Amino acid sequence: MKDQWVSLFHNHSLNEIKKEAASRFDGLGIYPDSVFQKNGTFFFMARHNGQKTLVLFGPGECFGAFEGEEQGPFKICGLTHDHCERMRTLFEFMNPVAIGGQKFSIGLGDRLGLATSGHIRAIAGRPVFPVLAQQSMRELGMTGRTYDDVLDDVSWAVFQEGYVNGFGADADHLKEKKQVEMALKRDYSMITLDCSDYIENQYFSMQPHELREGFEQIPAAKKQALRECYLSAGHPVDADTSIRFSEQEIYKCALVYGRALNFIEDVFHKVIARHKRAVDFEISIDETTIPTSGAAHFFIASELKRRAVEVRSVAPRFCGEFQKGIDYIGDVGVFEQEFIVHAKIAAYFGHRISVHSGSDKFAIFPAVSKHTGQRVHVKTAGTSWLEAVRLIAAKNPDLYRRMHRFALAHLDEAKQYYHISADPEKTAPLDSVSDGSLPAFMNEDNARQILHITYGLILQAKSPDHQPLFRDEIYTLLNKYESEYADALYKHIGRHLHALAVTK
Ligand code: ZN
Repeated sequence: MKDQWVSLFHNHSLNEIKKEAASRFDGLGIYPDSVFQKNGTFFFMARHNGQKTLVLFGPGECFGAFEGEEQGPFKICGLTHDHCERMRTLFEFMNPVAIGGQKFSIGLGDRLGLATSGHIRAIAGRPVFPVLAQQSMRELGMTGRTYDDVLDDVSWAVFQEGYVNGFGADADHLKEKKQVEMALKRDYSMITLDCSDYIENQYFSMQPHELREGFEQIPAAKKQALRECYLSAGHPVDADTSIRFSEQEIYKCALVYGRALNFIEDVFHKVIARHKRAVDFEISIDETTIPTSGAAHFFIASELKRRAVEVRSVAPRFCGEFQKGIDYIGDVGVFEQEFIVHAKIAAYFGHRISVHSGSDKFAIFPAVSKHTGQRVHVKTAGTSWLEAVRLIAAKNPDLYRRMHRFALAHLDEAKQYYHISADPEKTAPLDSVSDGSLPAFMNEDNARQILHITYGLILQAKSPDHQPLFRDEIYTLLNKYESEYADALYKHIGRHLHALAVTK
């Protein structure tokens, strides 16, 4: 193989090398879109002895700056964190950036670190800004990865695909200031601040007199200001819609969100605003049981504006249910009516709506797209894992069967972290399904959810002698069928974008 590389790189231009690599991938193992030239050195990614590697060729000062195994004129380098950092200084496009003025953006979480190539192919040619790295603290714990791992995997895939149009990295659902500092130190470009620990839901269910008593505890000047600001008249957000507050609603908003607002203000002014680069700052109030009213959304946005907090997106809690990996549960018509108000409020304040748990929510995508004029962010993640599971079912029925059984056995454990309505009794008994029909489990909501929420347990499962039960086999299979996995994601994320009318 090396000899072929030698003649390829000695006698051809960059374009010829790319063309040749594309037509002979099986022979050369060179990812065609990954061939770049910088300061006299060629860089490319290749499959070498079954491993994905970075390869350098040519003189240039860079050659000496990477550690690796020299083979003739080539240097074979590992995809280490250290090398990734060096590559990011050489190739600007490997670094995440804030979304800026982009209209539509999509979060493409990837639990395994293998999905980005498919994600990039799905968004190619469409007017969309991809947030290719997106991981919550909870997901890090469940997958045994770090924020560096997540971003490195994305950066390497971006290089492999030769994707130079910019991507974001979302440190999702952070709940503490020090987590925000940590994520920014690791160059994440988007911070999603989860305020649920500070939202005082108990006030939602209180009696009017209890709310009044609670409100009376607020300092007099502040009470006065709140009354003057919100009670006086309606607040028009466009020609037809005005947000009005009753006395009770002001009490409720002030009491439920008061501490959360202080928390957001503190994180923004002490950390986000002081950061050296632009950050997409998202406020998440979606992890509560009560849907966010238009008044509450308006109140939060207005209070944040008053406190000079710049928010790029807000994730309200919508009506209905956004369960993992399946379509929207609820009345689509009611959702649409409420969504229209949220969209107008967002447009009025200049932030975007962020739709969380957006995997497979095909029923509501048309409304989401239409009423925001595509100024909206949609987050997906689990659905890319389920496409991996589907591929595993097709390629290694035995592995799939073991995962399926394990998932059923550990479902109650997983339910502590995720709310789902799946009923294992409603899935076909595993033993009754032929090997060829196993992938069809991923067309069925109960099985989808069962395999979805147990991903962490599956990835972390160990045998009594501490060997991974599934992890290594999963990675080996998905690496082997890399292009099939990318194809599946291209189609499935493509369906999402199509339903959101983000077309080529
Ligand atoms: Zn969320």
